[in-house]
Amino acid sequence: MERLGLILLGPPGAGKGTQAKKLELEFGYKQISTGDLLRKAVQDGTQIGRVAEGYMKKGALVPDDIIIKLVKAAILQHERFILDGFPRNISQANMLEGLLSEIHARLQYVILLSVSDDEIVHRLLARRVCPVCGRVYNLLTSPPKNDNLCDDCGVPLVKREDDNEETIRNRLKVYREETAPLIDYYRKKKILKEVSASSSVDRVFAKIAEILGGNFQ
Ligand code: ADP
Ligand code: AMP
Repeated sequence: MERLGLILLGPPGAGKGTQAKKLELEFGYKQISTGDLLRKAVQDGTQIGRVAEGYMKKGALVPDDIIIKLVKAAILQHERFILDGFPRNISQANMLEGLLSEIHARLQYVILLSVSDDEIVHRLLARRVCPVCGRVYNLLTSPPKNDNLCDDCGVPLVKREDDNEETIRNRLKVYREETAPLIDYYRKKKILKEVSASSSVDRVFAKIAEILGGNFQ
C-alpha cells in the first residue's frame, strides 16, 4: 500500500489538533503533532526535551534537525498520517520532500485552515488540554462536562504554558514570517486546499471530509 500523508497548515489555534483527532477517528489517519511530541520530550526530561523547552516557552521554532528526527521516526510507523504543526518553514518542507521520496510516500493534500488573529487569541486563551490523552477543550466553545475534568480520563485539565497573550502574539509573528511562505510553496505544487476555520468544529470537519471524498455533513 502506498504511504499517504496530509498536512494541516495554519496558525496556532486554527484547530489543527482538533481536526486531526477527528480525522483519526473517521478516516484512520494517524496524527503526528510535532508540538505534542516535543511536549512529551520536555515532560520526560529527554535530551531533546531539554533543548526544546526554552524555544517553546518563547514561542520560537525548535531547530530543524531535532524536528526532522522526530518526524521521521513517527512517519515510518504509519501508512496514513496527518502532519499537524509540521512543516513550519521552507527548510522543513524541503527536508520533508526528501524524506517522503526516500520512503516512497506521497502528500495527498495540504489543508490550510484560515482564521483571524483576534479569533486565535480568543481561542488559545480559553484552550485547556487533558495531560493524559491530549484531548483538546475550550472553556467557551467546547467545555468539559464536569468542572475542568477530562470527559474521558477524569483528570484535571491543564492550560499550556505558551497559551498566554505575549507568547501567542510571538507565535503569530513566527507563523507570518516563517510558516506562511509554505502557502505559496504548496499552492505551486497544486495540492493546497483552503478551508475557512472560523465556523464550528463540525462544519470545518465537514469541509475537510468533502475534500477527502467522504460525506460527513
Ligand atoms: P491548533 O492545533 O491549530 O493550535 P487546537 O485544535 O488546539 O488548535 O484549537 C485551539 C483552541 O480552539 C482549542 O481550545 C479548541 O477547542 C478551539 N477550537 C478548535 N476549532 C474550533 C472551532 N472551529 N471553533 C471554535 N473553537 C475551536
Ligand atoms: P504547537 O503544539 O504546534 O502549537 O507547537 C508548540 C511549540 O512547539 C511551537 O511554538 C514551537 O516552539 C514548537 N514546535 C512545534 N512544531 C514545530 C516545528 N515543526 N518546528 C519547530 N518548532 C516546532
